[in-house]
Amino acid sequence: MIVMKVCPKCGRTSDEVEFIGQFCVKCYKPDLEVPTMIKINIGKTTGKLYFKSKWVKNNDSNLKRILSSYIKGDFEDIDYDWKGKVLTIFVKVGKKIVPFKRHVIVRFKPILEPNVAKLHSGYYEGIIQIRGKPSKVKWWVRKISNVLSGYNIGISNTKELKEGIDLYITDKNKVCKVLKMLGLKYLRTKKLYGVKDGRRVYRDTFLVRVGV
Ligand SMILES: [Zn+2]
Repeated sequence: MIVMKVCPKCGRTSDEVEFIGQFCVKCYKPDLEVPTMIKINIGKTTGKLYFKSKWVKNNDSNLKRILSSYIKGDFEDIDYDWKGKVLTIFVKVGKKIVPFKRHVIVRFKPILEPNVAKLHSGYYEGIIQIRGKPSKVKWWVRKISNVLSGYNIGISNTKELKEGIDLYITDKNKVCKVLKMLGLKYLRTKKLYGVKDGRRVYRDTFLVRVGV
């Protein structure tokens, strides 16, 4: 004899709908925590996604990984319907995989990648001062700028002065290497700028004379 079950929540019976335990499939609540809104940071210049302190490619599998990371509980797989804004979570119930749907809004928040953000904020760790004949200075500024960008060093500001041109650079660590590679001699001076996390922070000036 088959015992007919009655859902304690909606009153439907097991000959009408499927049952999971004592509840019907519609009233059964899996042990899941799903936010109603998920914000994903997207790089303004690269279109990459920011996930676990890293920039990752903007593709379906990474989107799935990011969305999955917001769900608490055990589940097998997910699927997001971008048009209907419905997140389907596939949960193993007994021996069956049962889909559960949740209304979730996914928003992309455009942010500037750190390097770009540094450039926009005028951040700099050092200054390359290029001095010499104006025509030579201009030629070397172009040359140095090209090589710096190859090393991912940004120029957040350029100042044209009577005595030459100053390049404000976002990363001072590879500057010596770049200048040496270009066969340029330089004079490096350090200036205490402040203290960060208990460490003294210096801004370095690299004085380069060209055409001598
Ligand atoms: Zn029910």
